[in-house]
Amino acid sequence: MTATRFTLSSRLIAGLLIVSAATLIFGVYNLNSDLHEAEATSGRNSLNLARAIESEITRSVELYDLALNGAIDALKLPGIDAVSPEIRRYVLFDRSAAKPYFGSMFLADARGNFIDTASGENTGGVNIADRDYFTVQRERDGIGLYLSKPFTSRLRHNETSVALSRRLPDVDGKFAGIVAAVLRMNYFLDLVHRMRLEGDSVITILRADGTILVREPSADGNADTGRQLSFDSQLLTAFSQSEGTFTRPSLVDGVRRVYSFVRLKDVPVIVVIGQSVEGILTRWWQRVWLFAGIGLVLGASAITLSLLLRREFRRRMAMEDQLMAMARADALTGLANRRAFDDCAQQEWARSMRTRLPLSVLMIDIDAFKNFNDRHGHMNGDILLVAVAKLIASRARRPADLAARFGGDEFALILPETPPEAAEAIAQSLREQAEATGREGGSEASRITLSIGLVSAVGTSDQTIGGLVAAADAALYEAKRSGRNRVVVGRI
Ligand code: GH3
Ligand code: MG
Repeated sequence: MTATRFTLSSRLIAGLLIVSAATLIFGVYNLNSDLHEAEATSGRNSLNLARAIESEITRSVELYDLALNGAIDALKLPGIDAVSPEIRRYVLFDRSAAKPYFGSMFLADARGNFIDTASGENTGGVNIADRDYFTVQRERDGIGLYLSKPFTSRLRHNETSVALSRRLPDVDGKFAGIVAAVLRMNYFLDLVHRMRLEGDSVITILRADGTILVREPSADGNADTGRQLSFDSQLLTAFSQSEGTFTRPSLVDGVRRVYSFVRLKDVPVIVVIGQSVEGILTRWWQRVWLFAGIGLVLGASAITLSLLLRREFRRRMAMEDQLMAMARADALTGLANRRAFDDCAQQEWARSMRTRLPLSVLMIDIDAFKNFNDRHGHMNGDILLVAVAKLIASRARRPADLAARFGGDEFALILPETPPEAAEAIAQSLREQAEATGREGGSEASRITLSIGLVSAVGTSDQTIGGLVAAADAALYEAKRSGRNRVVVGRI
């Protein structure tokens, strides 16, 4: 029973450990796929954000282009040269172009001199023949809408801007100048500032030739506007697509990021959003530590719990064993009690039936114990009972022998596999020693004798252990009757 209970608690602990280990393995597996998923998710999120920015810029570029085309068409109207400058301006320049960022819209002739501006301001002989939005249109017929590199406006108090330009053909289709609209850089800045990015993430809006329009956060504190990046083959290949995602170190700050980009359709502009791999990893590690912490706490409490359970098991087992022993022992002498005697006698009877070896039972009673009690007091009577019990227990030498207190001043000794002669010798030696102790011990309080009834028998099915005990009891009675301080061997 004890072994079973031990096994139970060991199994419980093993079970807890297995569950903990399985949880750990499952967690590590999950976290690992989580890392890949985190990168992929991050890429997807960035791509969606880039698409949103791209469509916003495309919408604005379309508006500006409408205005430019409107001006080109208006210039073809018959009699446009004949109207007053105010009406001409009104017809030429569409005011629907995005207001807050609208720098200015103007016409320049083939030499780069202003013909007219939407605001009608005095352009004071400013020439734009050196601007890329002018030269490109002059030199490359059919280029259509062109978005310039960032420049510092000459008309607008050095404000950084880009221009969108279209070619003005003359009647023969030759270059007659340009129509252009200026878009203030604040437009792009406000756009990227509106996006709240975490950690090491960046948004870059750049021209396909590598010129940065804005980058947030910037490396130079000024949106990195105009900074020229030279794309390597990986970037050239990637940016030839309309959109995509890749992981690599930044050209600007060397930080490794998951980049997602979208390319505009109308103008060669690319929106790139990068989220730092380290940031993704940091968040992943946070989850790992959280998981490890929870795992540790769970594991520790599982172990503590199992140890407590084990201790409780042992405590209860010890208590049960103790209780069981107490229930089978005589409180005063510590010998087996009547119940334990009965169980043992029954078992040994059955064994004798199997082995065909004789079982001997001695019934032992103190002579005139009542007188002893009366003379020396109950306390001394108890002391004597304990001494006699010790004496009888000393004769229970083999493991199967059992000394018991039958009740009152009556004791019993079960001697399995013991023939009558040997049992009688033991009985005599017991009686003699009790008598001798009484004689030699000096104190009157230890002067007693014992009467012993003894029966030996081999177990048979037509007899019972009860019969054998009763016969031993009868022999004891006979010993008393015939004068006490003697051993009588009875028969079953
Ligand atoms: P006999 O020789 O016929 O056995 O005489 P006896 O006086 O021993 O016989 P009896 O059975 O009449 O007396 C037994 C006495 O044992 C009675 C009781 O007072 C005493 N006794 C029984 N149990 C205890 C005990 O636990 N402690 C003490 N001190 N005395 C006990
Ligand atoms: Mg007695």
